[in-house]
Amino acid sequence: MRIHLNPNPNPATEADRNAKIAEGGFGKYYTDNMLIAQWSEGKGWSDAELKAYGPLSLDPATSVLHYGQEIFEGLKAYGQPDGGISLFRPDANGERFAKSAARMALPELPVEDFVKTVTELVKSESKWVPKNVGESLYIRPFMIATEVGLGVRPSNHATYLVITTPASAYFNPNKAVTVWISTEFVRAAQGGTGAAKTGGNYAGSLLAQKQAAAEGCDQVVWLDATERKWVEEMGGMNLYFIKGSGKDATVFTPKLTGTLLAGVTRDSILRVAKDLGYKVEEGMLSVEQWRDGVASGEITEIFACGTAAVVSPIGAAKSAQGTWKTGDGEPGPITGQIRNHLLGIQHGTIEDKHGWNVKVI
Ligand SMILES: *Cc1c(COP(=O)(O)O)cnc(C)c1O
Repeated sequence: MRIHLNPNPNPATEADRNAKIAEGGFGKYYTDNMLIAQWSEGKGWSDAELKAYGPLSLDPATSVLHYGQEIFEGLKAYGQPDGGISLFRPDANGERFAKSAARMALPELPVEDFVKTVTELVKSESKWVPKNVGESLYIRPFMIATEVGLGVRPSNHATYLVITTPASAYFNPNKAVTVWISTEFVRAAQGGTGAAKTGGNYAGSLLAQKQAAAEGCDQVVWLDATERKWVEEMGGMNLYFIKGSGKDATVFTPKLTGTLLAGVTRDSILRVAKDLGYKVEEGMLSVEQWRDGVASGEITEIFACGTAAVVSPIGAAKSAQGTWKTGDGEPGPITGQIRNHLLGIQHGTIEDKHGWNVKVI
């Protein structure tokens, strides 16, 4: 895929840019440029264009607006000690983007084109990459069905875009969150779209999120659709449970049954935990095992993980059956160790022995 550079002739001033970066938060300000490419049936992918960030003009009958045929990704660019910038495992996001596309009957973008377009945009927006640990430039590639018409069928036209936004820590890592275990609503069922990163999964989750907030909780935990028994994910993040403590601890995560989203952070933590000398395990954990495990002290720490927040400790869980604290409710030591190790690799202060960082500049 060739990329035509047609950058914004009026980028933000240095003062404006630095003020926006310093304000922090997540997804409030977007950088000067975006990247866009078109696909059509028969012709395939067009060249990409890097141009000024700005609104799209869409016919009101554009299919994505009606039937939600869309996919997205989320990854980050991190400042490095030498002043350079690296992407974290962009190939893994590219592979997942292609899988999501296949599931949603959208055209697959070759992984090398995904990595190339993301790299080129980050290079052009490099002044927007924050410098502090825990901060980054969040990259949002996405694809929408852009055939015009209300007929229900896989779109014969698609638009791929990449936008970027400076991000500070998404959740406060020193504050453990409380989660609501939903038994009324489910996120994904076997045969559905749970393993694809598609907006509809999020749209369907918002009512449960609202219910969680009404229960005084920060996030929703999803159970399997069939038995409403097995723990799957939290909001847009995967879950980890620490069993035992110290160097004999086991780092456990629910296995990928086909309904969970395979997080890049989840996969990275499986390897980091092993590198740190812990036993790692993927399996099934029921709500009863969660409740009994924290009560007996077998489960000592729980955290959620994903690109946006990296690692977020879970201090308590609430369900229709009651509230169960994790340990003393404060973030645990292994959670902190894993978080710091992963962030260290991403920021270039800990050896990247798996070759995960891809240099942009
Ligand atoms: C994106 C996402 C995750 C986390 O994936 P990462 O690659 O680690 O960011 C987990 N669950 C859901 C539902 C997601 O959409």
